Amino acid sequence: MIVRRRWAAAATAGILVSAVLSQPGSGTAAPAAPRPTVTLASGETAVVRVQLRDQAQLDQLVARGADLANRPRSADGRVLADVVLTGAQLAELTAQGATALQVVQRAGDGARHFADSVRAAQARTKAGLRAPAADQRTTAAAATDTLQFLQAYWWTSNGQTFVQTEVATTATDDPDVEITVSWRTADGRTGSFPLFRFEDSGEYQYHYALPQPVPARPVQVTATSSLGGVTRPVTPTVWPNAAPPPLPEGYQKDFIDAYLTPVDIQARIKRLARQYRDLVDVIDLPNRTQGYRRTAVAYLGDPAAAAVVVESVRFGDQGMNGVQVRTVDPGRANRPLAVSYRDRVLTVSLATDGAGAVTSTTDQVAAAINGRFGDRFQAFVEDGSAGLPMPVAGPARLDDGLQGTEVPTKPWTVQALRIGVHRDGSRIGVLAYSQEHAREWATPLVTLEFAERMLANARTDAATRELLEQVDIFVIPTVNPDGANYSFHDYNFQRKNLVNHCTGTSRDPRNRNSWGVDLNRNYTVGSYFDGYVGGSGNCLSGTYSGTRELSEAESRNVIALAREHSNIRFAMNVHSYGGYFMWPPGAYKADGRVTLPRPSIDESKLFLDSARRIVGAIAQERGTVTWPSQTGPVADVLYSAAGNSADELYYELGIFAWDFEVGNDRWNAATGQWEGVGFQPPFDEAHGESQEYAGGLVEMVRVARDYAAAQEG
Ligand SMILES: [Zn+2]
Repeated sequence: MIVRRRWAAAATAGILVSAVLSQPGSGTAAPAAPRPTVTLASGETAVVRVQLRDQAQLDQLVARGADLANRPRSADGRVLADVVLTGAQLAELTAQGATALQVVQRAGDGARHFADSVRAAQARTKAGLRAPAADQRTTAAAATDTLQFLQAYWWTSNGQTFVQTEVATTATDDPDVEITVSWRTADGRTGSFPLFRFEDSGEYQYHYALPQPVPARPVQVTATSSLGGVTRPVTPTVWPNAAPPPLPEGYQKDFIDAYLTPVDIQARIKRLARQYRDLVDVIDLPNRTQGYRRTAVAYLGDPAAAAVVVESVRFGDQGMNGVQVRTVDPGRANRPLAVSYRDRVLTVSLATDGAGAVTSTTDQVAAAINGRFGDRFQAFVEDGSAGLPMPVAGPARLDDGLQGTEVPTKPWTVQALRIGVHRDGSRIGVLAYSQEHAREWATPLVTLEFAERMLANARTDAATRELLEQVDIFVIPTVNPDGANYSFHDYNFQRKNLVNHCTGTSRDPRNRNSWGVDLNRNYTVGSYFDGYVGGSGNCLSGTYSGTRELSEAESRNVIALAREHSNIRFAMNVHSYGGYFMWPPGAYKADGRVTLPRPSIDESKLFLDSARRIVGAIAQERGTVTWPSQTGPVADVLYSAAGNSADELYYELGIFAWDFEVGNDRWNAATGQWEGVGFQPPFDEAHGESQEYAGGLVEMVRVARDYAAAQEG
């Protein structure tokens, strides 16, 4: 048979993207990847939606510490991942068989969207790309399999109806089984779409597809397999089939008019506390952060030839920025290597031989600095310069390299808002916290919009007042202010905090944008240190788990707040992006894919029923429906995240702990594709996310109220 693939031409953000691939092939030939068409300049960094060659390529990426922007997902029988990478890394990936599908966000976009938001400028939308059409090859029929629908849901979003299904086959070990779902509407229209096999950690999970557009509500779906299996017809259920009470007249919302830096957030917290004195306490969390600061560093020599890296022991703002370092030729024969430090100049006088020629090597210079002034400086040989003759160089100025000028450098006190009429522990508690990951700029907008809705409406809306009578609300708008400051002022794709645990040559300043700890991998339950999947011991990895469990002030703060207030029974960890709604278990061990213990049947039901209510509330704002395939336990919905905070709250403290990934893919009717929105979308999109997910948090408060009432009743 003929295999046909089509890839529609599209243009995005100034890059030309076009490819048409029509490839003859037999039923047994491996499908060839479409040709790479999205390009970046080699030094440019961007978030790119990449179709990986196979699962092995994803595993390799993760092992090398790749910075994955959200959870990889399966489509077209391949793995789709949004990866933060440079043009050179993209070229390497594509050379190995990956295909770039969409530039989700370029490095400059963050700053531009921030500025746009401050000026309240109109956002521009981006066009996207069409992914390859489904591979239609067939396989020779073997023994008939048995199929079962795990899920069949439909919903309507902004006038477009979608259907989504998950089907399991009993032929779990056969990678070539093809499953097709046929649908029929009430008025007799029909159609079909292929499902794709989803494996995780080497184990078959099910077949599924992204939500498919249909012309009207589907009244029947049937799945058939290439092995001959056929399901009975099933009537899809409406998703999420839950709606919050309509907003009362005069309900106040929309308190967000720009992206907010940590300094802005601090000011907002202060203003809310002043304005709503009777309903708010501000809690200073106990562990101050490192602060927006770094050691001062310089290359002594030329890193392209031979160099030693000289770094201050103290931070740059502690008097070390501007210190100079140099090597000098003593100009005389038979001089020993000598180091002196005076008037903020570190001088290395190089050794000479009998003829007066300089003889010191890079290694000798580094050792001499450490030996003589190790209390003030740490020096190491630049990677690639080992054993080379040390040049006469400098003076070079040590600098922390930080670009933010109006950011306090001192250790930061992370703050929480406590909101309620009775803030004494007598009412059930709810915790919402955001921006564990620095670059997720929309997330504090969500929690602050939520906080202000509760406060402003308490005076004018009886239902809100009643909620604040019954529930004790805790909000940490930014868990990771140091990383956030770095994301706003230095490197917008910063995910981790600002603490650099690297040693040796990984401290080279060329790695400056890869340092830090992934706070959502630094907790104690199901951690990397316990052997769970989805954390890393590599200090340059996007998911670096730290030096030990809870090594970081920021993660200790979240736990300290939850421990201090034992009335907290519900929590939401707000991240971006991708449109997920998840709960424990969030991690498994690779060997046998053994997850953390599953919640009981009763608790699983509470998680799912509550999730449907909250998904319904999110949809109320602008029709955004979080997909059923992305609503569920973290480990099932796609991923293992070793040592994440929701697992910590659930397993250690008995809190019903969820994760939002705000920023759902948007349906592009023109291209027929779902498109990623990125970490720092045009402000209009971030604003929309803040409004819809704040509504979701209000529903979580209602869930908590109802839970407490049921416990008493
Ligand atoms: Zn995140």
